[in-house]
Amino acid sequence: MKISKNIMSYCKNCNKHTNNTVKNYNKKPQRGLSLGTRRHNRAIKGYVGSIEPKIHPKKLGKKQKVMLECQTCHKASERVFGMRTKKKIEVSR
Ligand SMILES: [Zn+2]
Repeated sequence: MKISKNIMSYCKNCNKHTNNTVKNYNKKPQRGLSLGTRRHNRAIKGYVGSIEPKIHPKKLGKKQKVMLECQTCHKASERVFGMRTKKKIEVSR
């Protein structure tokens, strides 16, 4: 998939359509003290009975996420393009 570097998109902060610059999405490291990780660590320690491993069906590809930055207010927002694919997004110049 190819996406142009500048696209028009809705900005929550400006409450209207503005010009946005497109950047690749990088996954941030997980927070160590969030409720989910604390609950998971407690379950692993053995305070919550036995944990059965969940069997998930294998999914084909990932949804391609992109970060948009508003050019007027410089706020960043996420955007998912298309369905699950193995192809990666290329930001063209
Ligand atoms: Zn904005």
